[in-house]
Amino acid sequence: MSHDPNCIFCKIIAGQIPSRKVYEDDDLYAFHDIHPWAPVHFLLVPKLHLPSMAQLGPEHERLMGKLMCLAPKLALEQGCRPWPEGGFRIVCNNGAEGGQEVQHLHVHVMGGPRPWHKG
Ligand code: 5GP
Ligand code: ZN
Repeated sequence: MSHDPNCIFCKIIAGQIPSRKVYEDDDLYAFHDIHPWAPVHFLLVPKLHLPSMAQLGPEHERLMGKLMCLAPKLALEQGCRPWPEGGFRIVCNNGAEGGQEVQHLHVHVMGGPRPWHKG
């Protein structure tokens, strides 16, 4: 399923639920997390509805490569200082035991002045 009408992130991507958009292109969407853990905290997601990384196959290599290559650029634009003094953290939760709450593949991109950590 490329779009799940019951998925909260599909609704955000479609504009049916408002979000603070960070970036959008044909394949990817990024928006600020509603409950930030860090001074910079946004979510970067494929527009394609994939429940988690567990559903990834070889056909998604280009998409996920694009996502990972975009993350550092967006982190800088959102106020993370450059590597190595600054930097950012990427977290991708998968499945119940991986702490995943929203079943649409997403990476958390977090950064900014410390101290901060995931509670
Ligand atoms: P997970 O635990 O699945 O990796 O994290 C899901 C993240 O999505 C959480 O950090 C949560 O704050 C965020 N989130 C859940 N619902 C919404 C929403 O409606 N809007 C935004 N902007 N973020 C959301
Ligand atoms: Zn979805």
